[in-house]
Amino acid sequence: MTRIVVVGSINMDLVTLAPRFPGPGETLLGSRFLTAHGGKGANQAVAAARLGASVSMVGALGRDAFGDQLYQGLAKEGIDLAHVARLEDEGSGSASITVAEGENQIIVVPAANARVTPTQVEAARDAIRHADAVLVQLEIPLDTVEAALRLGRRESVPVILNPAPAQKLPAEWLSLASHLTPNQHELATALSADAVTDFRELMRRAHCPVVLTRGGEGAWYCDDTHPAPAHQPGFAVAAIDTTGAGDTFNGALAVFLHEGLPQAVRKACAAAALSVTKLGAQGGMPQQAELDAFLT
Ligand code: ATP
Repeated sequence: MTRIVVVGSINMDLVTLAPRFPGPGETLLGSRFLTAHGGKGANQAVAAARLGASVSMVGALGRDAFGDQLYQGLAKEGIDLAHVARLEDEGSGSASITVAEGENQIIVVPAANARVTPTQVEAARDAIRHADAVLVQLEIPLDTVEAALRLGRRESVPVILNPAPAQKLPAEWLSLASHLTPNQHELATALSADAVTDFRELMRRAHCPVVLTRGGEGAWYCDDTHPAPAHQPGFAVAAIDTTGAGDTFNGALAVFLHEGLPQAVRKACAAAALSVTKLGAQGGMPQQAELDAFLT
């Protein structure tokens, strides 16, 4: 069984549907409210677990009602939570999302996610040492991300760095990750604007394979055997909700990385395509059998 460690965020998404966005000081009646389990780390962990991997998560939750629900949700997916801290003096992370007129406005409060520490990464050393791949994103403190990158490098375990949400990466990180998985926007932000020419340039600077995702168009990737970018077209599906497509892609990429990059990218595109056919970030993430059936 493929073993994956995810070091990342766990959030409760609080989604309000409204006829329009309220102005400052205005109160509006919305049409619907729902909560959904999210956070890039948790989403990627769930994507990998549904595809049959044994997943261990490093993260933090408050000891509050949302924390209990999020913890139970991850446990139900079979994810090992031994390295998820429950903080007494901090709330769980949340994302307040208003959806109106086909757009959304989001306010993220990292809360416990801002307290995921390098010490927790060190404590998960055994799990990381025995992992086939580690996944990390940028919704937790950067020193913790760096600790995961360095530990993976020391233990010769591939660490996939999904540089989301977009921010400029410290230059030395580029050579610590085993794979970089930006979307178009993150690619432009990952290096300072004047240094970015294209993603071949990023690969040259990163000394590691780069996989660029581009929504329904699929993904481009390059590595040592594909120095010119290769294209995996997106799978044609009826898209309902693209939230979490990138997280599904990353979770799947980690699970199938041992099959070689072209095959892993193909399966990641297929899993992500399936994920956009249902509502919610985690709602559409496929089980392994569903992915197998889609690909045959
Ligand atoms: P998000 O932030 O919405 O989670 P992202 O911007 O990180 O996504 P995208 O590049 O939009 O990532 O999507 C990731 C992958 O999901 C794509 O490479 C593609 O394979 C798949 N995908 C996304 N949208 C579609 C779509 N409409 N149809 C088919 N596949 C899609």
